[in-house]
Amino acid sequence: MSPSSVMDREHPYVFLEIPPEVPFELKPAGEKGWGGFATRFIARNSLIYQEPALFTLHLTMTQQVNDSAVLQAVKNLSKNDKQKFNLLHEASILQGNDNISELFITNYFALAIPSHKHRELYQPNLLGFFVFISRLNHSCVANAYVPQNMRKTISCYAARDIQPGEEITFSYCGEFPNMCRDRRHGLLDFICHCPACVPGTRFYELSEMRRQLIRGLHYLLLGLDLASSRRGGPSMIITDPELRDNAEKLNIPLMSRLFYESMVGLMLEEEGIMNGLTSEYITNRMSQMAEYLAEKSNVLAARKIMEQDRWMDRWLLASRTFGVRDRGDWDACATLQLIRAANRP
Ligand SMILES: [Zn+2]
Repeated sequence: MSPSSVMDREHPYVFLEIPPEVPFELKPAGEKGWGGFATRFIARNSLIYQEPALFTLHLTMTQQVNDSAVLQAVKNLSKNDKQKFNLLHEASILQGNDNISELFITNYFALAIPSHKHRELYQPNLLGFFVFISRLNHSCVANAYVPQNMRKTISCYAARDIQPGEEITFSYCGEFPNMCRDRRHGLLDFICHCPACVPGTRFYELSEMRRQLIRGLHYLLLGLDLASSRRGGPSMIITDPELRDNAEKLNIPLMSRLFYESMVGLMLEEEGIMNGLTSEYITNRMSQMAEYLAEKSNVLAARKIMEQDRWMDRWLLASRTFGVRDRGDWDACATLQLIRAANRP
């Protein structure tokens, strides 16, 4: 018996009671510590697990996570839930970290709560502590994703088919598709060894190119650099001054928008990180833009593009009408500018 197997058998996670509906088990995952491994086949886009927060912290904008806030919340837990927290704490101590606030920080998700306008609003100061989904490791080419949805609950979905025994991973940052390896590693507090992060492979080279391209395409679509460390500051991802100016004024022709959106979809698909939610989101954004089209030939071309199931086919069709102007361009631009102004803090 090797020393590590003795340690694994006595690891606190072994004593963590996993609800029967959770389709993964906790096991050592090499350098990453422990991870969640599928116990059955999980089909693409299906729900893996929906988990309620063990407890939440509602901090004011200026407040930071602190030991006493966490301990106060833990004090109010049932005996069973307290034990879950204690097992996670013991596991954290085994890794050399005895800090309660740190333990919270490595197990929380920021929660979305419904606002008075009946919209889901991101509330970075409402934080939930999650026992099981937090056990899943990060990958930049993850097979699962965790969108923000209901109050005090998070859900994990399969981004692609997951086979029994396969490790389930999700991306810890929603904007990583716009970021190259160095930028991602600057934000993670560990070194990721996923296929997109190991230099010297063909996949790595293509991944770097795709993510740079996605970042530029988002700049053209939104007038924003989603990977910039200085959000709102000047970005050089688009170097052509006229094109950059048009992107910033949201003055990109509708048919070009359809081409750029299709290309984002294609790049995400090629990278292996397209999931049902993102696909629906991009498709909705394309349909909304297509509604502004006023020229019959463009309306027909857009309809044909939207009929395609594969992003490659959408992109190929959209490339034929790239740059074509439409009478609806101005209207779309004015509306996008109004929406942006209304959403500015
Ligand atoms: Zn990675």
